[in-house]
Amino acid sequence: MGRVLFAGDAAHIHPPLGGQGLNLGMQDAFNLGWKLAAVVQDRAPDGLLDSYHAERHPAAAQVLHHTSAQRVLADPHPSEDVAALRDIFTDLLRLPDANRHVAGLMSGLALRYDLPGDHPLTGRRVPDAGLVTGAGPVRLSALFGSGHAVLLDLAGTVPAGLPLPPRVDLVRATCAEELGAAALLIRPDGYVCWATDGPATGLGSGETGGLGDTVLAAIAGGLTRAG
Ligand SMILES: Cc1cc2nc3c(=O)[nH]c(=O)nc-3n(C[C@H](O)[C@H](O)[C@H](O)COP(=O)(O)OP(=O)(O)OC[C@H]3O[C@@H](n4cnc5c(N)ncnc54)[C@H](O)[C@@H]3O)c2cc1C
Repeated sequence: MGRVLFAGDAAHIHPPLGGQGLNLGMQDAFNLGWKLAAVVQDRAPDGLLDSYHAERHPAAAQVLHHTSAQRVLADPHPSEDVAALRDIFTDLLRLPDANRHVAGLMSGLALRYDLPGDHPLTGRRVPDAGLVTGAGPVRLSALFGSGHAVLLDLAGTVPAGLPLPPRVDLVRATCAEELGAAALLIRPDGYVCWATDGPATGLGSGETGGLGDTVLAAIAGGLTRAG
């Protein structure tokens, strides 16, 4: 038997508190799907499947960790100590920063994969914003139905005629929401692997400081990391 990969509740079971199991399992599946496709089609670079474990194991471990805390706090018959802890926790949740922190943990939106690059969006899940393309309005999430990566040009800075590798779709659009970048390269599972605030210089040219050939080729091959 070859390698066995687990996703969803087969990989991690935790108390249902907070309703996070489905979200966690779906994200496992999306993370794994495009990588498995690359392997099956013999275009995956070495280490691609290892990145599934590297990215998803910490995400699951974190959910197990904080649902353990929730199980204690939600005890219907709490001891005096747990009741005191719950009161303090309730007060803390009234603080916007603390509330945001816990909401980020429970929704999974605080998750950031360790991808190369220092743009604040790199490694983060792209929000499902409303876009307007030449073909009309579309949700950002609808761009991933093909299982391709998406190079999203929000400021018209991606050069015309850019030779994109297979399985990378260039989408030029405007967005009423502030997405935090002028152009983004988004993996098939909806995570940003490259972004820029300014002109998308160096695209496909191999120049440093832009989206070079290495990153484009890596995404085309299904790799999560450049180099
Ligand atoms: C009470 C409760 C409340 C919950 N509430 C929420 C919530 O509000 N929000 C949320 O996100 N999550 C919630 N969850 C968690 C969520 O239901 C699970 O995380 C999610 O269903 C896991 O999906 P899965 O596909 O990984 O596993 P499953 O849904 O368990 O699917 C596995 C499937 O494999 C089948 N199977 C097993 N063995 C075999 C076999 N040998 N051969 C063939 N088929 C097999 C099973 O029959 C099953 O259909 C809750 C869970 C519980 C128990």
